[in-house]
Amino acid sequence: CSIIGIISSKNVVAPALVDSLKRMEYRGYDSVGVATLATTNRISVRKGIGKVNQVNSSLNLTEMEGFVGIGHSRWATHGGVTDYNAHPHPCCTEDIAVVHNGIIENYLPLKEELVKKGHRFRSETDTEVIAHLLEDHYNASRDIKAAMLETVSQLEGSYAFVAMFANGSLACARLDEPLVIGVSDNAYYASSDVLGFLQYTDQAMFLDNRDIAIIDRDGAHIFTFAGEPVTRGVTKVAWEL
Ligand code: GLU
Repeated sequence: CSIIGIISSKNVVAPALVDSLKRMEYRGYDSVGVATLATTNRISVRKGIGKVNQVNSSLNLTEMEGFVGIGHSRWATHGGVTDYNAHPHPCCTEDIAVVHNGIIENYLPLKEELVKKGHRFRSETDTEVIAHLLEDHYNASRDIKAAMLETVSQLEGSYAFVAMFANGSLACARLDEPLVIGVSDNAYYASSDVLGFLQYTDQAMFLDNRDIAIIDRDGAHIFTFAGEPVTRGVTKVAWEL
C-alpha cells in the first residue's frame, strides 16, 4: 500500500520512516513494518498488525538504529492479515529485506521453484518471493544490478518494491505501481507517494514504468529493465504541506 525507503548520511532514519508512514495513512492499510540496517551491518525487522501509532508503541519502531531503512503499510491481497505477512520480508540469510506494493501474479510457481532450491518461506504473501529471488541471484553474482535485472525478468503482475541490502544499498523497481525518488542534501528517499518525503525535500525523480534504481551513498543510478542506464530529471514538486 505505502512504501518508504531512506538512505541518510546524517540522521538515524527510523523516526523519519514512521513519520512518512503516518503521512501516507490516508490510503488505508492493515499492518505496518520497518527494517533498518544497524551499524553491525545486520538488518533488523519489526512489524505487526495495526495502525502506525499502535505498532510503534508496541514495537518501538522509532528507536531502531541505522542510517538506512525501509518501511511499509500493507493492504493485504495475498495471505491473511498476520504479523508474519506484514512487510518488510527478509530473505533466508536476512541480508536482504523487501517492501512491495501490488501483486506478483506468478508467485506460486516461483515459490515452488525456490522451495525446491532450499529457500524457507515465513509468510503466505506473494511479496516474499521477491526477497528470495534477489537472494538467489545476488548469491550467484554478488552484483545488485544483475540480481535486480534477473529478478524483474521473472516477475509477472504489478509492483513497486524497495529492497534493502546489508551492504547499505537500496534497490527499487516499478511496473504499473508508482515509485518516486526524493533527493535532499543529505538523504535519498524512495516512496510510493511524494507525501512520503515532502516534509524533507521537494526535489523528486519520478521513475518510469520498467525502471530500476539502485541508491547508495554515491547517488541514485537508474536503469531500464533491459539494463540500459537512463536519467530521470529532478522536478520540483509544487505542493504546500
Ligand atoms: N500483495 C502484497 C501483500 O498482500 C502487497 C499488498 C500491498 O500493496 O500492500 O502483502
